[in-house]
Amino acid sequence: MSLEKNVDFSIQKAEKSKIGSIDFENVKFGSVFTDHMLVCHYKDGAWGQVEIKPYGPMSFEPSMNVFHYGQAIFEGMKAYKDENDKVWLFRPRENWKRFNKSAERLAMPHIDETRFVDGLKALLQLDQDWVRKGEGNSLYIRPFMIGTHEGVVAGPSTEFMFCIILSPARTYYSGKVKVQIAEHYSRAANGGVGSTKCSGNYAGQFYPTKLAQEAGYQQVIWTDDTTHTKLEEAGTMNVFFRIGDTLITAPTSERILDGVTRKSLIAIAESKGIKVEVKSIVVQELLDAHAKGELKEIFGAGTAVTVGQIEGFAYQDKYYALPEVADADAYAIQLKTALQGIQQKRIEDTFDWTE
Ligand code: PMP
Repeated sequence: MSLEKNVDFSIQKAEKSKIGSIDFENVKFGSVFTDHMLVCHYKDGAWGQVEIKPYGPMSFEPSMNVFHYGQAIFEGMKAYKDENDKVWLFRPRENWKRFNKSAERLAMPHIDETRFVDGLKALLQLDQDWVRKGEGNSLYIRPFMIGTHEGVVAGPSTEFMFCIILSPARTYYSGKVKVQIAEHYSRAANGGVGSTKCSGNYAGQFYPTKLAQEAGYQQVIWTDDTTHTKLEEAGTMNVFFRIGDTLITAPTSERILDGVTRKSLIAIAESKGIKVEVKSIVVQELLDAHAKGELKEIFGAGTAVTVGQIEGFAYQDKYYALPEVADADAYAIQLKTALQGIQQKRIEDTFDWTE
């Protein structure tokens, strides 16, 4: 296997695989990592050698940029194994493009497609036994980049590390969740970094999410920062509303992440003849639709769960339960089944999304 000629590339194999000690049936999401990782350093204006080496601890100076000024971005994607033991990625180039969008906004360097996508494929080839086949099994892929310049200078780092780590995952049906519509806190603002996957976005969500959880809700529906009326994202997912038989989701903006699952679900829904409207939806529309009995479903969309159904929402201390919709009639289930079928190669990929 070789990467593009101009990309220097090295592989150091782990002496012994940990795979025999892993209980794949009961693995907790994000807690176990494979035998290898990919590491690449940026220095003097250029990316260096792509190193694939044993997964393990790293050592850094306490003065390093990311510890103080937080230049840190990441991606989240998955690999699947089909019945013939072939490993597949789902739209990895979308993640690569989004990674570079995040990098740009955080004053970090772009990374080339070869190091990101081909480097990932080389890493996966080495750790392919960690991708389990069968429904619900996948390998979660976490590419990330941090500023590694040493020195507490409040400016962009001049040195960076790009890294990819892999973690076996199982999708369990976690049940429907109750959500709280944000009335005070925001995850993003116009002109800010909400449309990027920078680490600080997630740190800023933990506290309001904790408050919502203490009040009995699993997630927050984030609203726009100015009026707190536009419904934008659900937890760390994009959000869809079904009113009557129309599926509605907010347009991507500076405040909303351009989710790969979101755009895939829109395309699948349209191919099934479901009417999709990409438009801003405000709380009052939701309350009116609920009062008229037209609000049928709300669900989140993201790589981790693909589709996460919501059973009801709280707004201004009042709880609004959604009606029971049979699985066969639920858009959430129809779209989830179709998307997972494509990702796991049980359904023909007419969109050409898998590689
Ligand atoms: N919004 C936010 C804030 C997220 O963190 C994620 C997860 N990456 C998503 C939406 C969904 O994006 P994707 O479908 O690409 O996983």
